[in-house]
This record gives sequence, structure tokens and C-alpha cells, in this order.
Amino acid sequence: MSSMTICARFRPLSSKERRDHGDTVCIRCIDAETFLFKDEKDEEFTFSFDKVFYEKSEQAQVYEFLAWPIVKDAVDAINGTIITYGQTGAGKTYSMEGPSILVCDEQKRGLLPRVVEGLFDCIKSSGGTMKHSIKLSMVEIYMEKVRDLFDLSKDNIQIKESKSQGILLNGVTEISVSDPAEALQSLSSGIANRAVGETQMNMASSRSHCIYIFTVHQEVKRDDRLKTGKLILVDLAGSEKVEKTGAEGKVLEEAKTINKSLSVLGNVINALTCGSPGKVNHIPFRDSKLTRILQDSLGGNSRTALLCCCSPSPSNALESLSTLRFGMRAK
Ligand code: ADP
Ligand code: MG
Repeated sequence: MSSMTICARFRPLSSKERRDHGDTVCIRCIDAETFLFKDEKDEEFTFSFDKVFYEKSEQAQVYEFLAWPIVKDAVDAINGTIITYGQTGAGKTYSMEGPSILVCDEQKRGLLPRVVEGLFDCIKSSGGTMKHSIKLSMVEIYMEKVRDLFDLSKDNIQIKESKSQGILLNGVTEISVSDPAEALQSLSSGIANRAVGETQMNMASSRSHCIYIFTVHQEVKRDDRLKTGKLILVDLAGSEKVEKTGAEGKVLEEAKTINKSLSVLGNVINALTCGSPGKVNHIPFRDSKLTRILQDSLGGNSRTALLCCCSPSPSNALESLSTLRFGMRAK
């Protein structure tokens, strides 16, 4: 498997989509990697990804294919990133959290609770030769400002780079978690804080990027070295083209900022995957806060997974097409 895994996921039709268009969908499955997509003018496109998760796919399948290899490596001190991309309502947060982070059917649990469990399972099975510890941070990027979701008073966190530790969020809250229950409790408080901040700033959660950072320290007993693996999960802001709707003022500013950071993300991933060997090509990590935070967890030795979330409904065909093209460009 290459270090960049790009997948597409289609959620089931919503009741509104069903009301407007019946059971019509704009995709036709060819196999587990390929499908046909029909746009609003009945033009057909073929798309191929590392894996396609269709409407009936299970959360566990997404985790096993896309996240588990990255979780295993994080415990071995290899950095990784898991990103959900797509328009608002496409299933990014559902894929990440499930219906709820704390209480939900085992079957419906999202990537986050599974990642937490996977990390602690890996540590347990690594036996007694190494001592591990896990720290958790949660931040949100809104209008290119980084806010600490464990401490809302820290509303302008600076990004720094250190030779020994790589990219750092200066002064960010780090919570040491010693078991899955504790980690889920912390995640849940961060998610609750996110809602509080949104109300304070009168902003919808779909307009900010939410970033979960697990730092796994590994102390190799026999030589006292400390190795670190960083696993970052990103629930991106909605990728929909708000500008086209004639938005003004704050909404337009938000949309421009989001567009810029998503396009920088696309450029970075593209530069990482298309770089010719032996040639030093410029990777524009510094062009957005998001890519700057991800700098040492994207490319290089790290592993990346991108889940392109889409609605299967013809009413969202234009946005879905744009999401799928973002994913294809990243391949
Ligand atoms: P986003 O975070 O991309 O804005 P959400 O994850 O909030 O979108 O999903 C929008 C709605 O669709 C939610 O009500 C969610 O429960 C539902 N949904 C999304 N994906 C799935 C899925 N795979 N299975 C069932 N329901 C889903
Ligand atoms: Mg969401």
C-alpha cells in the first residue's frame, strides 16, 4: 500500500433527497474501486479510488481499510493523517465521530472511537519492552485562527517548528489519556466546547476545520530513547461553493478563507504525490494554517488517508463531482 490512500464514500439518500428525487442516485457501482457518475446533464464519468464505500458500507469497513494501518504505524512512531473532505451534509462528521462520540451502537461508531481503541490495543499488544503514553489535543481553525478546543480562552494558538519535535502548537492544551474511556470523555468535552465557541462567534461548525491530535510517545526501555508518533484526524469545513450563491459580508469572507485553505491542501497533496523522484519540488505547506499544522504528518515517511464524502443524490451532483475531482487530483 502506498503512503497515500484516497477513498470515496457515499452516504445513504436523506429523506429530503428521497422526497425530491425518489430513489434515483447519480452513481452506478462497477466494483469496489470504480463507479460511473452521472452529472445533471446526464453526462457520465468514470472514477477510480483505492476503495469506494457505497451507501450500505459499514463504519467498521472504513476504519479497517483506511485508518487501522495508520493507527498501527502511529504506535511505531510513524506520523499519520486521516482527513474527511466534502460538502456540508456529505457525511464527514458521521464518518469521523458516528452519531455520537460517547453513546451509540457499536456498529455505528465512527473513526475516532475506533482509532482510540485501536491505539490502546496496539500499545497493550506491544508487550512490556516499551512504555507508551498518549496525549490528546483538539483545535479548530476558523478564519485562519487556531483555537484550543480544550481551553476556549486560548483563541489564537501559534504554530512553531522545532528541530527535535517538528511542528508544534504553542501552548496548546495536551491531555494525557490512559485508557479509551478517558480519551473519549476528553474528545466529547472538546466537541461540546466547539458548540459553545460556535454560539459565541455565531458560526456554523461546517465553516471551520476540526483537528484531533493524538501524540503517542514510545519509551524504548533498553536505551532510554523517546520516539513519537503523531496521528492527526481532520474533519474539514464544508467544501461547497458558497460564493456562487451570491453570499455577502461575513459569509463570503468565510467561504473565501475555506476555499483558499482547501485548495492549498489540494496543492500540497498534489505536490506530494506528483513530485518526480530526485527533483526537489516546492510544497506549499506554509500557504495555510491547516497544511502548516499537517506539515510533518503529510508526505515524507508519514501515512495519509483522504475520505471524499459525497451525497449520492442527483440534487447534489455538482458538489459531489467537485469532491470526487479533488480526490482524483490527489491520487
Ligand atoms: P457533514 O459533517 O459532512 O456536514 P454529517 O456527517 O453531519 O455531514 O452527515 C449529514 C447527515 O447524514 C447526518 O444526519 C448523518 O447522520 C447522515 N449520514 C451521513 N453519513 C451517513 C452514513 N454513512 N450512514 C447513515 N447516515 C449518514
Ligand atoms: Mg460536520
